[in-house]
Amino acid sequence: MPFRCDLYDDSFASNFQISEIANYLQLKLPQAEIVMHGSLIHEKLNSLPEEERKVSLQHLSVGFAKARVHDPHKTVNEREPLYGEIAYEKRRLTLKGESKGVVYDGFMVQHLLAKLFDRKEINRWRLPIVFTNQLLATFDESDRRYHLRTVILGYPAIVSTTGLVEAPAKPREFYLAREQFRAVGLDAISPLLANELKERCLLPNDDRLTEVAKGYALQTVFYALFGEAFCQDKDCRLYNAHWQEEMLNAQLKGTYDLCPRHENMLKDFLQAKR
Ligand SMILES: [Zn+2]
Repeated sequence: MPFRCDLYDDSFASNFQISEIANYLQLKLPQAEIVMHGSLIHEKLNSLPEEERKVSLQHLSVGFAKARVHDPHKTVNEREPLYGEIAYEKRRLTLKGESKGVVYDGFMVQHLLAKLFDRKEINRWRLPIVFTNQLLATFDESDRRYHLRTVILGYPAIVSTTGLVEAPAKPREFYLAREQFRAVGLDAISPLLANELKERCLLPNDDRLTEVAKGYALQTVFYALFGEAFCQDKDCRLYNAHWQEEMLNAQLKGTYDLCPRHENMLKDFLQAKR
């Protein structure tokens, strides 16, 4: 059975190049079929007749509104969303998806997106990967709170392009500087400081976003093929980075692309399929 990967671009980011991700995955999996798409939501909605499209848009808008994380210490549960929240989602889903720092429950979003595919399109040998500009979080039972995520593994897999900027912790200097700027009523970090921190963290509109996202796309593929997404080796693309500096090291400066163990796993898989 050939492996197929469908890549969807819901990043709405000009610094994100989905074709580069596709080329990279094709290089790693020469026998796989890699297919590029535009926005998942737009493609799926536009494929429906008008009446069904309205129903589906309403369903999605309510679903996303329900998946909003309002309190990081409380799991999202069945709450009737406000009219304004549903209207916001409807606007976001039909226009160019804006992202205003709203945080969503990652597994609820995954569940919602999974329903957009039929069974032929999503299964053991066919993995959709959605690149989204939405901020996603999952609830951690150990400290009873939500944490932002870079990636939601599974079907469909979701890589959050804003999560790559926001989820791994930034150097402490960044938070200190932000506090100082906020104290004088400024919300942004000065360009000078941004330049200094560039070496140590991914910034909004960063031209390194695509290169970093390649490793996260590969994590979702490894999880689909081997049930294992992460690596302990700090130089491996599959390294589960908790700090921005670790992420940039693994994705941009690692001594190799994949560590020898993961390179071999891929090699064995490719040979077995011949
Ligand atoms: Zn590895």
